[in-house]
Amino acid sequence: MLGQMMTAPLLISSLIDHAARYHRDTDVISVNTGGGEEHTTWGQVGRNSRQLASALTHLGLAPQTRCATIAWNNRRHLEIYFGVSGGGFVCHTINPRLFPEQLVYIINHAEDEVLFIDSTFVPLVAAIRDKLSSLKHIVLLEAEVGEAARILPGIIAYDDLLTQGDAGYLWPQFDEFTASSLCYTSGTTGNPKGVLFSHRSTVLHSFACNLADSIGFSAMDVVLPVVPMFHVNAWGSPYACAMVGARVVLPGPGLDGPSLVGLIDHHKINVALGVPTIWLGLLGEAEKAGSTLESLQKTVVGGSACPPSMIAAFRERYGVETIHAWGMTEMSPIGSVNQPLAKHMDLELDALHRLRENQGRPPWGVELAIVDDAGNPLPHDGETQGELVVRGQFILDAYFRSTREETLQEGWFNTGDVATLDPDGYLSIRDRSKDIIKSGGEWISSVELENIAIAHPQLADAAVIGARHEKWDERPVLVAVKSEGQEPEVAEILSIYEGKIAKWQIPDTVVFTDVLPRNATGKVLKRDLRDTFGNVLMQ
Ligand code: ADP
Repeated sequence: MLGQMMTAPLLISSLIDHAARYHRDTDVISVNTGGGEEHTTWGQVGRNSRQLASALTHLGLAPQTRCATIAWNNRRHLEIYFGVSGGGFVCHTINPRLFPEQLVYIINHAEDEVLFIDSTFVPLVAAIRDKLSSLKHIVLLEAEVGEAARILPGIIAYDDLLTQGDAGYLWPQFDEFTASSLCYTSGTTGNPKGVLFSHRSTVLHSFACNLADSIGFSAMDVVLPVVPMFHVNAWGSPYACAMVGARVVLPGPGLDGPSLVGLIDHHKINVALGVPTIWLGLLGEAEKAGSTLESLQKTVVGGSACPPSMIAAFRERYGVETIHAWGMTEMSPIGSVNQPLAKHMDLELDALHRLRENQGRPPWGVELAIVDDAGNPLPHDGETQGELVVRGQFILDAYFRSTREETLQEGWFNTGDVATLDPDGYLSIRDRSKDIIKSGGEWISSVELENIAIAHPQLADAAVIGARHEKWDERPVLVAVKSEGQEPEVAEILSIYEGKIAKWQIPDTVVFTDVLPRNATGKVLKRDLRDTFGNVLMQ
């Protein structure tokens, strides 16, 4: 017997319809690529999204045609999110920080036919245009094409494209399992791999985002997604914010400390999302500018481990709660969020603060487990380390143009992370499995060593790698960037580890570098560091 409830499919168009209908006047504020701000509303974003979907249909695109974006977080990009997916096409967000060869690979692999770009990326696209075999239309996210028409002949302006759409367009209804959007992983090894989200997975992920024990956006919030819309859909925040009608501030291209502090203070932002490196810049600037970040209540930090010293700085200097989250492109991306349980309210403050440092527990829709090398389950006792595997309602089944057999192991996706899980599901990421340091048969977490080092007042940045060692195979070496004007001694830096970890885990030495190499999503490129410093203990 089937239930007798309505069967409306879970479609992305329903999110923007809700926002446009019930949060019509709620602000969507957007920093323009060329400077200045634009104030609009969910009502207007909803109208424009529909008109865009209609215009794309008039272009003659077949259902499921891939429409790519290389763009900052701005109002037009937001409309593309809803207009492209809502219209039955696939929104393929591309990270502009990838190497040109990777961009060419991704666009051709996805067979993108439409490419929406911000003016910043006109030269980037012009340089590779000839190699993009499937591309039919390039759209500039501006009112007019201006100079870009000379560099990219045939380019059309977004606002002109919109005028070709019907205002009365109605969203098509289709199967909720239909593909909605596409993101490629950064591909530090091998070619990038595509993750093809569905309407259903996106709507369910939005619910998971909005649970009170997760990020929990609300109509009372003013949200600043600093995490780029080309980075796993800004962690799903545009969809989740539309679902609840939160006020949104889109920061455009300026992701530096001063711009962010300015936006937070000016627009009274209370929730901001971003990777740890962004917050390092923000904290430094807030101090310099004497801002108290008065409106800010919570920061959602993920993408890389959030150092406890950062959580403490937010809490103690600014009264801001940090919500540490973990995830990956393959998981839409939210896999776990650090929120306490009722029983933790009895903890001493120090213990409660420590509890908030790990990567948190899974929301509904995610199941986590740890396994050994042979795939056997390991206990969730908070101590045993193993490979982290996941499954759930918004986790990939197969990479784009690949198969389930190639992607999953017995129905689980292996994250490539090494972790512990406690009985309540709290996750502690120890390392990427390829970065964990194997010293004489024991494992040392580079993340743990980095978290301690980054708190050193004379260091601006730090990473730990396993360097080759004659006796122990590998030993930890700290690669450090000095703070401006500081000349710390090696011994002085290493003394920060005393009493915090076992002696045998302390790095053997410190090497200095000017800047840490990072990939397109801000993660430190450990492989490059190992190439440069992997032999320092062998001389
Ligand atoms: P994203 O694009 O969201 O950064 P990726 O798929 O590129 O996701 O990378 C996911 C990986 O990033 C995870 O497998 C994990 O190693 C790392 N990561 C993400 N969040 C955290 C976190 N809070 N702590 C530690 N590592 C994290």
